[in-house]
Amino acid sequence: MLVRPTVRAFRTSRCRPAFAPPHNSNEFSRIPTPMTAQLIDGKQIAEQCRQQVRQQADAMLQQTGITPHLAAILCGDDPASQVYVRNKEKACATAGFRSTLHRLPADVTQPQLLQLIAALNSNPDVHGILVQLPLPRHLDTVAILDAVAPLKDVDAFHPENVGLMLQGRPRFVPCTPSGVMRLLSATGIPTAGRHAVVIGRSDIVGKPMAALLLQKGADATVTVCHSRTPDIAVLCRQADIVVAAVGIPRFVRGDWLKPDAVVIDVGINRLGDKLVGDVDFDAAVDRVAAITPVPGGVGPMTIAMLLENTLTAARLQINHP
Ligand code: NAP
Repeated sequence: MLVRPTVRAFRTSRCRPAFAPPHNSNEFSRIPTPMTAQLIDGKQIAEQCRQQVRQQADAMLQQTGITPHLAAILCGDDPASQVYVRNKEKACATAGFRSTLHRLPADVTQPQLLQLIAALNSNPDVHGILVQLPLPRHLDTVAILDAVAPLKDVDAFHPENVGLMLQGRPRFVPCTPSGVMRLLSATGIPTAGRHAVVIGRSDIVGKPMAALLLQKGADATVTVCHSRTPDIAVLCRQADIVVAAVGIPRFVRGDWLKPDAVVIDVGINRLGDKLVGDVDFDAAVDRVAAITPVPGGVGPMTIAMLLENTLTAARLQINHP
């Protein structure tokens, strides 16, 4: 009789500091071929990160009288964006932050939106600015994101912040890839010397993800795939770590994955009333060493990293160490 093994949650007792990749150690790969994947519990790790942010925000308030303040801009009434913004507002409240939501109609003009961003840029009471994407099609997203003051750019989309991150001296790290790196470090999964295949090359996820895995300290060997990459299955079969950020439900199939692979599923796709990732979880879970669930994997980390960036933004602006 075939018995489906139970998935075990891969939890950690610490969020920070990151694991120190053991020198010349392949601890993770020495684990015998698993019967079932370790489930990387993003909810639990994110909760630890949020608690740490809360403690640091409380300490900052005591020492300076200042509370980090995130201003979010939502244009139009896209239902998914409304949910994301609401979740970010709730996360701010639980971290002890202030948050302000600026709702603009879907037909807001580019000058009107730029004017609001300019006002928030020059308001010393606002530490972080978040423009919820996607913007209505008539707006120039690049110009809008470029208008956010780099010191308040908690999504890390501004070219100045992208450049600093690429040079390995980040001011802010883009929230989703930063959350992925934190999941790996918090669960003790080494990246040094490992072959990471990132599927997707968006400015928000794929490109910064590849850059973070490649940077000194992370030291992975990185392959980036996109819609013009042939034989993605072949590349995935060589991967120690697969990060899927494609936006296609269950794109990565179970037989694309090595038995000792670590699989990070960034995808969030709605199928009927269900959320599914970019990886065929049911096919992968019995094959690989570790995997993030959807929901409950990368998603909660993205919001936790937004809180960290907002705290950093407040510190930078009030010169608080
Ligand atoms: P995106 O901007 O649409 O980028 C998708 C990437 O996948 C592109 O680089 C595209 O290649 C590539 N791609 C599309 N079809 C492909 C194919 N058939 N084969 C190989 N590559 C293909 O999406 P995104 O913003 O990066 O988001 C990706 C996924 O992550 C989505 O499901 C999104 O909802 C999710 N997401 C989750 C979080 C979170 O917090 N968990 C945050 C952000 C995004 P080209 O560049 O060649 O077009």
